[in-house]
Amino acid sequence: MQYKRILLKLSGEALMGDQNYGIDQTRLKQYALEIKKVVESGVEVAIVIGGGNIFRGLSTEGSKMDRVQADYMGMLATVINGLALQSALEDAEVQTRLLTAIKMEQIAEPYIKRRAVRHLEKGRVVIFGSGTGNPFFTTDTAAVLRAIEIDSDVILKGTRVDGIYTSDPEKNINAVKFENITFKDVMNKGLKVMDMTAFTLSEENKLPIIIFDMNKEGNLMKLLSGENIGTKVDI
Ligand code: UDP
Repeated sequence: MQYKRILLKLSGEALMGDQNYGIDQTRLKQYALEIKKVVESGVEVAIVIGGGNIFRGLSTEGSKMDRVQADYMGMLATVINGLALQSALEDAEVQTRLLTAIKMEQIAEPYIKRRAVRHLEKGRVVIFGSGTGNPFFTTDTAAVLRAIEIDSDVILKGTRVDGIYTSDPEKNINAVKFENITFKDVMNKGLKVMDMTAFTLSEENKLPIIIFDMNKEGNLMKLLSGENIGTKVDI
């Protein structure tokens, strides 16, 4: 295995499957089984999950809703997804802990770095809920932040697209995929990998990012076994 400890970032939208909203149980089960294989191979797995399938703070722009209020709603959405993922993993007999940046002790442990690391060392999957706990951030930033804190070797961002292309492959059939790219080249070419806060935090801390298609069965395990899956962004 290429990495000992990974942080997997899953977007909320990924959980929708083919639906327009909410959580697709089939997709959830597929993810749980893929993650189980990784855990069984001895890799320590932490997960940050988004909330876009339920609520996004930004979606209220232009409305009367206060942005801070809306962002808290978004953070709660990530906890709903975290609970769903935890349930699917436990159903697949994977030990998990859900840790949230906003205290809600009846349903999850509060986030404490040392505790998270201890869970990982014991082979439990750690799911981080409620993002960074602060409005005006994204779960991509939460993913980078937690990855650095727990000393993850890499951040794996599972998306619908199988890597970074010269232009949007869903719009341009001539788009070419990069296998590797530097943080600087991503900036110079104006490519989009993560929001700027998340991206620069990753670069400053020399944390590599791999963008890959999580929906293709077996991709996660192939990537970890060293196959050329997705695009790696490194210094
Ligand atoms: N959010 C936030 N602070 C954080 C993480 C998330 O305020 O640290 C809110 C924000 O409103 C965001 C929503 O939670 O729109 C859902 O997260 P995100 O959009 O990152 O989810 P994804 O796109 O990965 O599904």
